Amino acid sequence: MTPTDTHPATALRLAPLPATVRNLVIVLGDQLDAESSALQDFDPTQDVVWMAEVAQESTHVWSAKQRIAVFLSAMRHFADDLRRQGLPLVYARLDDADTRGTLALELDKAITQLHPATLVITAPGDWRVLHSLRAVAAEHQLPLDLRDDTHFFSTVRDFAAHAQGRKQLRLEYWYRELRQKHGILMDGKEPAGGQWNFDADNRESFGKAGPQNVPAPTRFAPDATTQDVIALVHTRFASHPGSLGSFGWPVTRTQALAALQAFIQERLPLFGLYEDAMWSGEPWLYHSHLSCALNLKLLNPREVVQAAEDAYRTGHAPLAAVEGFIRQILGWREYVRGIYWTHMPGYLEHNALDAQAELPAWYWTGETEMACLKDAITQTLEHGYAHHIQRLMVTGLYALLLGVKPQAVHAWYLSVYVDAVEWVELPNTLGMGQFGDGGLMASKPYVASGKYIQRMSNHCKGCRYDPALSTGANACPFTTLYWDFLMRHEALLKKNPRMAMQLKNLARLDDAARDAITHQAMAHRDAVQPASKARVTTTSARCL
Ligand SMILES: Cc1cc2nc3c(=O)[nH]c(=O)nc-3n(C[C@H](O)[C@H](O)[C@H](O)COP(=O)(O)OP(=O)(O)OC[C@H]3O[C@@H](n4cnc5c(N)ncnc54)[C@H](O)[C@@H]3O)c2cc1C
Ligand code: SF4
Repeated sequence: MTPTDTHPATALRLAPLPATVRNLVIVLGDQLDAESSALQDFDPTQDVVWMAEVAQESTHVWSAKQRIAVFLSAMRHFADDLRRQGLPLVYARLDDADTRGTLALELDKAITQLHPATLVITAPGDWRVLHSLRAVAAEHQLPLDLRDDTHFFSTVRDFAAHAQGRKQLRLEYWYRELRQKHGILMDGKEPAGGQWNFDADNRESFGKAGPQNVPAPTRFAPDATTQDVIALVHTRFASHPGSLGSFGWPVTRTQALAALQAFIQERLPLFGLYEDAMWSGEPWLYHSHLSCALNLKLLNPREVVQAAEDAYRTGHAPLAAVEGFIRQILGWREYVRGIYWTHMPGYLEHNALDAQAELPAWYWTGETEMACLKDAITQTLEHGYAHHIQRLMVTGLYALLLGVKPQAVHAWYLSVYVDAVEWVELPNTLGMGQFGDGGLMASKPYVASGKYIQRMSNHCKGCRYDPALSTGANACPFTTLYWDFLMRHEALLKKNPRMAMQLKNLARLDDAARDAITHQAMAHRDAVQPASKARVTTTSARCL
């Protein structure tokens, strides 16, 4: 633990560790901001930063190679920045000979060696991590100074106060409250443009011509640090899903700022219009691809929202696009975090629809004849990225209609995306995608037939199935399973006024049509090969 003068891998001069340590400041892999609350009063003469790469964070779910690489590379770059600034740092590497494999065990080792008076940390995003670190602090009888995470507009306490006494939680009210409180897209007391919501303007497809002149995504060639990480991931996590050939994510703050600027300049004006649209072989479209940088804390949502509002105020981007984008960050991002922290750990176990099927094996390979799923899963494994509608209305929708256990779906989403951290992934998957919480997060299940995918993309054109058919050899599995879902859950859905239209259409089916659909759905289910259980370990609260 005693540092040599220079770091062997980077040749950076190392600051000496203080003889007596006041604060051991814990910086987790998704807290990579030198301005974070934990580092606010850092004193290099008496404090030490502690960071650790541990195998458990890549194996508690079967993490994809892109996801592991993005975290490790960003952590190593951030550690080098701290070293350059002369901060005393203890950094445990995954390939250290004496690595202990978990955050708790590594922290235990550091405490035993450094004897700090206090542990300081910005509130972790994940319940599992907070509770394991709390347990270590308690074991050593050390105070844990837990500080608010300033990478959100609101605190969990704000959300809890908003939620108190409400029968139902809905994004819209929370979002409006935050817009008013922070004066975002407001003209005095009124929302800019006289409307809170421009969703109706933001639902275009690309039409027959397809997307035209989509700007190239902002990608970054791996430098020496990232290349080392890629080599390590190839060796250490060879059997994990996905590939690394296309790795180009921002892993430093400078890169993240460049990606933000390029998005505002090149993509934001059309973001809203094509927010829900999909196209085969076009993974990037007009989305920002900033979720990973935001979740690692390389970017602060305040600067992202400000940049978007500036684009509207200067006439660079239309209000509908800017409001649509800001709604995702100021609205959804804050909302899902509030849901997560006010309902954990029980939230992990919800299964309101009693879905019991296993995840199909081809979620890990993309080898399916369903063109929409093949496209979304293949790009996910290649880049660690899919945009919201692909996650919600393709991979998420199919799992919901098939009746896959929400916990297995959750494990998949937490594994495969570069932006996947539990506080944001779990409510989106279990709540919004799978209706596992019975309507806490979303006012109704997001269900549709293959015709929705046909309307929003060109996938069906190149597919062997027909989205208009629910039975027969060419029936689209989405369409079959959609009607089957409505029939299986009819009694429950009848209680939901927002499902009235869909149930009215179901009522038009006669008994023979219903039977045929049920049989077709059963045959489809029987033909689906389930994924191996070893690959869908979940982060159950019980693991602690
Ligand atoms: C089943 C499912 C799982 C998801 N898992 C994750 C996840 O693990 N991590 C994650 O960051 N997002 C997740 N999302 C939300 C959303 O799909 C991603 O944030 C988005 O696709 C990231 O791409 P982007 O940066 O190009 O986003 P853009 O479309 O450009 O949106 C801008 C930003 O808004 C935020 N945002 C958008 N939608 C949401 C949302 N529903 N919840 C929270 N923030 C949102 C993100 O920070 C995003 O970068 C999930 C959505 C679904 C339906
Ligand atoms: S026909 Fe069905 S399975 Fe094929 S691409 Fe369309 S929605 Fe997907």
